[in-house]
Amino acid sequence: MVEAWLIEAMRSYNAESYSMRDAYAAQLHLPGPIFQDLVIWALQSLPDEILIGLDADSERKHIQEVEAAFEGQEHVSNLFGGQGYVIKEAHVVNRGDSYSVHHLPEEWTDDLFSGQRGSRAGRFIHWLHTHPNAPAIPSRADTDAAQDTTGVDMILGLRFSPEGPLPWFDDVDGTRRSLGTEHATKSKRSWFSRKELPVLGVAPTGHSIHDIQLIAFHKSGLGVNVLLIDESGYPYGWDDLA
Ligand SMILES: [Zn+2]
Repeated sequence: MVEAWLIEAMRSYNAESYSMRDAYAAQLHLPGPIFQDLVIWALQSLPDEILIGLDADSERKHIQEVEAAFEGQEHVSNLFGGQGYVIKEAHVVNRGDSYSVHHLPEEWTDDLFSGQRGSRAGRFIHWLHTHPNAPAIPSRADTDAAQDTTGVDMILGLRFSPEGPLPWFDDVDGTRRSLGTEHATKSKRSWFSRKELPVLGVAPTGHSIHDIQLIAFHKSGLGVNVLLIDESGYPYGWDDLA
């Protein structure tokens, strides 16, 4: 089950993806239940970043009607591996800091990636890693790591509290894509908080989630538009777009 607050946030994100469709070269359809797992895994792994490998379902294409509606003027065909196919599954394959998260330890590569040892090996089509309490904007290490990716690279940025050892870090330039901050209800005013942060929802880990950011990009630097889809394959909020 996908949490109601997350469905609202995904509707808002998809609406923005639709209005910004001309800024993207391609699209990628990610099921909401998998996206919810990614958010939970990210918070369960704090303070580390995690690296997640994702595979496409070769038997499940994007719904053509949706693909056509979200196709922008700068659309590029055959840009990346797995283009046009829905993401099927996700696996956590590493955790570490912003540099080491991209470099799989040898015991992983020995057991799982025999004969394919590399900075990330070649088992998965797409990769996603997390930015705990930092915006979803690629670092230099991120763009370097993306050069080995067959499909696309995604970054999941989360702003949450309690912050633990990771105060929100905001000193980064780049295009941001947030989920549903306009739907967030203001938290109760406290005499002790410096400013009120909206709360999107509360995770099973107990963290209040203030912002979720998600971007996807091809190793060439072109942006990829992520659509968060429900079990039927249509994006959350599709009826509002039509
Ligand atoms: Zn990163």
